[in-house]
Amino acid sequence: MNTFTTDGLVLSVRHTGESDRIVTVLTRDFGVVRAFAKAACRPKSKLHAGTQTFCFSDFSFSENKETYRVTEAAPKELFYHLNDRLAALTLAQYFGQLACELVFDDDKNPEFLRLVLNSLYFLCTREKSDAWIKAVTELRFCSLSGYAPELNACAKCGKTDADRFFFHPSEGVLCCQDCNHSFVGLPLDSAVLGAMRHIVYSNFEQIYSFPLSAESCKKLSLICEKYILCQTERSYTSLDFYKKCRDG
Ligand SMILES: [Zn+2]
Repeated sequence: MNTFTTDGLVLSVRHTGESDRIVTVLTRDFGVVRAFAKAACRPKSKLHAGTQTFCFSDFSFSENKETYRVTEAAPKELFYHLNDRLAALTLAQYFGQLACELVFDDDKNPEFLRLVLNSLYFLCTREKSDAWIKAVTELRFCSLSGYAPELNACAKCGKTDADRFFFHPSEGVLCCQDCNHSFVGLPLDSAVLGAMRHIVYSNFEQIYSFPLSAESCKKLSLICEKYILCQTERSYTSLDFYKKCRDG
């Protein structure tokens, strides 16, 4: 039997048996880990607090024949303000679904966890709008998982400067107005293109900080959503629910 420790965020919890939990955890060092937490539903269990949904905890796991068990879970941060707003809670669930889709089980890139933790933090503090947080998370998730769009130049003629660019979400490329003959691309104004470039190419510390009007942010959010849906080729129940209950 192998044991290992790491910190991670509980993305979802499923109850099983009389008082057990199966948790899905986005870890810093080992990608997404699905593990059995014996008796964790019992309030007196040492695993109870640290295995709740959206709890960020220090974990110890044991592994036997690719079956994982939580042996310790010490909570460090519980994003309980997510529960204040249905829109925030459904977006957090959406980010969790994206992580399960895009992070491989043995992915060792700690930036996935950092991205989701920062986005949950902003959902709680409301320093940024939900549309803003959603767009940054979607586009940076794509970049981290190998689906970075090419946003420097027109994919057909190589022009880096044009009055108007169009974005093709299925290919993840730009076309300038002269090359976009079939008009299948989504029109991008310079503010939205600037924001997309910022999210994809900046250092992590800067990805949430860029100037953008609320109106342009709505366009950015729509484009980033179209892009991630195209790239992952699936729908997300949490995203559909978010759209029904969002408050701006
Ligand atoms: Zn062109």
